Parts: sequence; C-alpha cells; structure tokens
Amino acid sequence: MATDDDRSTLDGAALARAVALLRAGELVAFPTETVYGLGADAADPLAVRRVFAAKGRPADHPLIVHVAGVGAAERFAVLDGRARALAAAFWPGPLTLVLPRRPAALDEVTGGRDTVGVRVPRHPVALALLRAFGGGVAAPSANRFGRVSPTRAEHVREEFGEEVFVLDGGPCAVGVESTIVDLSRPDRVGLLRPGGVPVEAIEALVGPVEPGGVAAPGTLPAHYAPRTALRLSRDPEAEAARLRQRGLRVAVLRAGEPEDHARRLYAELRRLDALGVDVLVAEVAPDSGLGAAINDRLRRAARGANGG
Ligand code: AMP
Ligand code: MG
Repeated sequence: MATDDDRSTLDGAALARAVALLRAGELVAFPTETVYGLGADAADPLAVRRVFAAKGRPADHPLIVHVAGVGAAERFAVLDGRARALAAAFWPGPLTLVLPRRPAALDEVTGGRDTVGVRVPRHPVALALLRAFGGGVAAPSANRFGRVSPTRAEHVREEFGEEVFVLDGGPCAVGVESTIVDLSRPDRVGLLRPGGVPVEAIEALVGPVEPGGVAAPGTLPAHYAPRTALRLSRDPEAEAARLRQRGLRVAVLRAGEPEDHARRLYAELRRLDALGVDVLVAEVAPDSGLGAAINDRLRRAARGANGG
C-alpha cells in the first residue's frame, strides 16, 4: 500500500546495499506496512543469531520469515487449503501464518519448534527487498527487546544508532504488528496475536478462530513498553484529572478512528514517553477490528511500563 510519503518509493542504491548486507550475513532494518523489521538471511544461522544478540531477545522467541510470495513461503512451510485461502485474501499484507515447517526453516528461526511463521509484507520497499534478495528474511520488530516497536526509520536509529543499516521507507501505513494465526493443526484455527488484519475478516474465510494455539513465547504479557507509567482508561480525561489532583504530571493519548489510531500509536507512545511526565493515560479503543490489536498492545505496554 502506498503511503503519503515519498520514502515509500524506491532508492535503488540503498536497496542494493541492503541486499549485499543480507547476502554477507549482516543485519538490515527495513520498513513493512506494520512496523520496521530487523532482518537477516533466514537461511544463515549465524546471521539469524545476530538478530537475537542485537535485540537482546531470548533465543526461544521464534522469528517470522518474510518472503516475496506464496511460492517462496512454500520453501519454508507446508500450506494447506486454509493457508492458501488466507494467503490469497491477505497477502501481501499484515497476516502471519504459523504452519508446519520444512527443513529450510532453521532451528535458529523457529526456536526449535516444528512450526514456522511466514508472511508476505505489503510495503513496496519490503517487497522489492525480498524480490531482489530472493530468499527469506527472518525478522522481528527493529527495537530492543520489550520496548516500543518502531514505525519510522528514525525510531530504529534511536534504538540502534549506527550499528544497523536502515532502509528508509517512510512511516508505516498500518502501524501495529501482523495478526498471527496458528494453522499448525488441521482441526482448529488459533489466534496467537491480534494485529493488522481483523479477526472478523479471517473468520469470514476459515470459520471460528479460537484464542491461543501453539505456544507463542514472544507474546509476553509485558511488552511494547514506554518508560513512563501507563494507565488505560475508558474516560481518560477524568482519569487524568484524578491523577493531577494527586499532584502528578499527566499526558493523555486519545483513541479516535482505529486505522489512524493504529498508524500513530507507537510514534505517540514514543513522543509522550519523552515528555518526562509521571503518568501516561491512554484511552481504550473499541474492542473489535483493529481496535482489538490496539488494546492488546496498550495492555501489554501498561504491564511493561514503570509502576504499571
Ligand atoms: P515479533 O517479530 O517481535 O513481532 O514476534 C514474532 C512473533 O511471532 C513471535 O514472538 C511469536 O509470538 C510468533 N511466532 C513466530 N513464529 C512462530 C512459531 N513457529 N510458533 C509460534 N509463534 C510464532
Ligand atoms: Mg516485537
């Protein structure tokens, strides 16, 4: 999907450099429509280990393999009829499928599981990178472990400085991570993480989606966290007034139209976090569609933040 920012179009020299780095076993931060990823050649175990080291991420949290299309996904995973239907409807797009793995899915990527998560992102720069590279790119979000996900190139630079080359694709159009669906069992569809594709749209194609599924160790209760304490409220102005009466300095994050709210959520959390107030109060979003993903991230952010 095009964004209103011309950095979503291609810079040929930067793209060539990113491909060369991936081939050399180095890391590349790249834009997707959800958040920026910290990518490595999914076929290179040492490169994949560098991702965990750079993030400070526990080795048993599996990475998503990003590919240019269904054909490339099939090199890493076994797709059944449900997977094909979802891929046809939502790829390229913010949907990750957890599927039985093939041998090309390395233990370093899957955390030694018999499943692998695969996705075709929709951002034109991500797709161009994946096509030019030709292989799979294993990538988590390009932030230090547990912190707020990056939705702009400058957020990645704030996290990693000169340590990592950043392919700049402008601000992310969706702004929250992919929906993760577990299709590893033939008899059930499990929701591992709400995200950019509404669960309701998935259910319309493959029937009821149950919460949970195979263990997804990356989905921690405390995650996506600002440093400032964060509270959720359905009436944020009243909550802010109460806290101010107690002498606390408060900043408020209002909800609003879900697509727009999702797009600016992480940038707003970063901006408000930098104000140096005592408490952030975030308005709870309506709990359907993209709102479910927004509330999921806010709840985890509240648990991970200081005092929250
Ligand atoms: P991140 O890239 O930080 O958004 O995290 C990717 C998340 O995808 C992981 O933390 C897991 O929750 C999930 N995931 C990826 N691959 C698998 C898998 N094979 N089985 C279960 N969950 C997975
Ligand atoms: Mg992440």
